[in-house]
Amino acid sequence: MARLRPIPTVKPKDLAEALRYLAAGGRPMAGGTDLLVSIRKGTEKPELLVYVGELPELRFLREEEEGLEVGAALTHAELLSHPATERLPILREVLRTIGSPAIRAMGTLGGNLVTASPAGDGLLALYLLEARVRLVDDAGERELPIQEFVVGPRRTALKPGELVRSLFLPYPEGNPRSFFRKVGRRRALVIAVASLGALVWVEDRRVKRARLALGSVAPTILRPREVEEALVGRPIAPEAWEDLVPKLSAATQPISDLRASAEYRRKVAGRLLLALAEALRTGL
Ligand SMILES: Cc1cc2nc3c(=O)[nH]c(=O)nc-3n(C[C@H](O)[C@H](O)[C@H](O)COP(=O)(O)OP(=O)(O)OC[C@H]3O[C@@H](n4cnc5c(N)ncnc54)[C@H](O)[C@@H]3O)c2cc1C
Repeated sequence: MARLRPIPTVKPKDLAEALRYLAAGGRPMAGGTDLLVSIRKGTEKPELLVYVGELPELRFLREEEEGLEVGAALTHAELLSHPATERLPILREVLRTIGSPAIRAMGTLGGNLVTASPAGDGLLALYLLEARVRLVDDAGERELPIQEFVVGPRRTALKPGELVRSLFLPYPEGNPRSFFRKVGRRRALVIAVASLGALVWVEDRRVKRARLALGSVAPTILRPREVEEALVGRPIAPEAWEDLVPKLSAATQPISDLRASAEYRRKVAGRLLLALAEALRTGL
């Protein structure tokens, strides 16, 4: 464990002040549940921490006709208890599984996004919802689709001095069924060995359309488009999806680490597809 040295920390009163600190090389911190762990491990060595967790400009929810805009510094617990997220059941299903009550009370959706872990559960929901990331720096604002914002494992398109201000989460059309399952090595405080989330539009007991997102089986969250397309028109029954199991496994690019081997992850990803079919068949 690295020896801890005190890191200067500032708490700006508003966004403009925060951006000035960031432009001078400061590092944003919201809940600190990822960043402080990395600092303790010695893998991150920021010179200045800029606490953004209470900036009013990052702490709002706005219901628009097309979707929900979520301030980056809202915590998982706040999102879970806000009535506006009822229209996004997949978001709630995923956030409920993050860490523990204490972690959900501290950790934010913006922090989960910027950590860009392939095991990031909130991030997986953002891929399923095809979220748009709204960024701000002292030069102005820009917006990126989630898959352009995340550029690799723990790497994003965030520029120095830039903050994630909010996430725009488009409401999915119609009434898709939501599914999220993560497989870990224990029941609580699980970091996924593999996870699968899905939005599935069902008509006459057949798949009309599907979005799938896999966690922990590739450098970033994976949308297996070929499998999504191959599902269209299939009956919602595991036996009718068997041939897609190897296809899904083949789409993954897992690594072996302390938690699981690549081979195991590949296998689990495939089996999760059948768990989805079963859940749809039994009405979830
Ligand atoms: C015990 C434990 C269990 C956990 N369990 C889970 C789990 O089950 N699933 C899961 O997905 N994660 C889990 N995590 C990881 C973590 O809690 C989440 O990723 C959390 O959402 C991070 O948010 P935060 O606000 O704490 O981020 P922070 O630690 O404050 O920041 C994380 C990163 O984001 C950057 N950042 C934060 N806010 C902004 C912003 N607005 N703009 C730009 N950059 C920003 C920081 O600079 C840093 O790089 C766990 C962590 C712990 C310690």
